[in-house]
Amino acid sequence: MQRVIVIGASLAGLLAAAGISDAGGANRPVTVLDRDPTPVDGTARPGVPQGRQPHVLLRRGLLALQELLPDLRPALLARGAVPLDTGDLAWRDVTGWALHGEPAHEILSLTRPLLEAVVAEQVGALPGVTIRRGAAVTDLRRVGRSWQIRLDDGSTLTADVVVDASGRSSRLPQWLAGMGVGPADETVVDARLGYSCRLYAGGPDPRELAGVVVLSDPTLPKGGIGLPVENGGWIIAATGTGDCRPPRDEAEFDAYLTGLRDPALADLAASCTGGGPVAVHRQTANRRRAYDQVPHWPAGLLPVGDAMCAFNPVYGQGITVAALQATTLRREWPARMDPAATRKLLSRLTSTTALPWAMAVGEDLRFPTTPGSQGLVQQLTGAWAREVGRLGVHGDRRATRALTTTYHLMGSPLAMLDPRLVLRAGLDLVGVRGAPNPRPAVLETLVEPAHAPAG
Ligand SMILES: Cc1cc2nc3c(=O)[nH]c(=O)nc-3n(C[C@H](O)[C@H](O)[C@H](O)COP(=O)(O)OP(=O)(O)OC[C@H]3O[C@@H](n4cnc5c(N)ncnc54)[C@H](O)[C@@H]3O)c2cc1C
Repeated sequence: MQRVIVIGASLAGLLAAAGISDAGGANRPVTVLDRDPTPVDGTARPGVPQGRQPHVLLRRGLLALQELLPDLRPALLARGAVPLDTGDLAWRDVTGWALHGEPAHEILSLTRPLLEAVVAEQVGALPGVTIRRGAAVTDLRRVGRSWQIRLDDGSTLTADVVVDASGRSSRLPQWLAGMGVGPADETVVDARLGYSCRLYAGGPDPRELAGVVVLSDPTLPKGGIGLPVENGGWIIAATGTGDCRPPRDEAEFDAYLTGLRDPALADLAASCTGGGPVAVHRQTANRRRAYDQVPHWPAGLLPVGDAMCAFNPVYGQGITVAALQATTLRREWPARMDPAATRKLLSRLTSTTALPWAMAVGEDLRFPTTPGSQGLVQQLTGAWAREVGRLGVHGDRRATRALTTTYHLMGSPLAMLDPRLVLRAGLDLVGVRGAPNPRPAVLETLVEPAHAPAG
């Protein structure tokens, strides 16, 4: 029986273990190693510093998680995850408000540590899976046809297949260099996006208000999001791009929310009680390592998750891509992991990143503070997506559906090329345009309108 070791017991590593352990109907032994000794108990841990920030689980990601762990959804709901319809989010972009109250995609909203804790419980209970914490991998070598994994206590482990799920700080490039393999081409597109967030108690009933999203754009590179989480809480994050840095200070945090293109998030924060300390995170660059292009790639080595391709998190894609990669591992695990089979699987894992990468990088390159510039195709597709967004803001349901389906990775972006949308845009050009959607009425109930919308 193949021995499989996964480096990193965060979401990509845990989900990969779930996918591999029963691929092909086998109860394959999989050991997952993590450097963090901290038990995963629903609070943030040092190895996942981004864990304090809000994490959106896209609809496609929720479905993939359920495919891997069929009991996950009821367990998350029992622990307080909030089910919500994305059509009930109050969603504001530069052109106006998205249609509100139009059924769209059901997702679950919860804190990232709770999601990881429940996933870890369920993956740890799978036959064959062992999770070892406090085991930092310091070196990886090919010895004959096996892999030798050295740990920080000086001990070594041996495996037939190694999955690197050690996140953005993965040392795989250095380990490969030590083996004389590579390097892999690395592409970095850094919009220099910063996050600040606070966890609040109280706040509105999520059945009345499912959440608030205020998007940034190059004309006002500040935005934010507020989502309900377990225990009746709300998590509110402020984001800023380039030199527009969201604050570390509590008083400045509230002021920053007031300066967004709509004060809905400031009103939401004011309607809550007991805002916790501000948590800041700034490592958000899109970073892709083209391991699938490296000549003489060794058999049985598979990078996944952020270790292979990390995205600007503002688009909420990382967990979903990790879950899609885990379902790929389950479906396409070969009987023999020889060099050709490894390369084929690596290429399938890489292909899950293509659309999310194009979406994130295409948008980030619009910001003048991002080094690099859009190519012609990115300019044209971006301009059309914004036009579709504008049609949605002027009441077009088909446009809204095409956009949210693409955003949640539930269908092809080609839905945005529907000839009826093209016709609609043409009518707009000659002045036949629907009225803009109103600001969702529920926002007026948050607090006495202390701040006037900035327009
Ligand atoms: C601010 C922010 C917000 C985000 N928001 C979203 C969102 O809304 N939606 C979404 O889908 N994604 C979001 N993400 C991305 C998401 O956090 C990741 O994509 C997701 O957690 C998968 O990451 P991963 O498991 O590959 O790596 P990580 O979560 O970074 O985990 C890596 C693991 O490897 C371990 N490790 C590292 N080195 C070693 C070693 N040498 N030996 C042993 N163990 C090691 C670490 O302890 C850690 O547990 C966000 C990211 C950031 C930064």
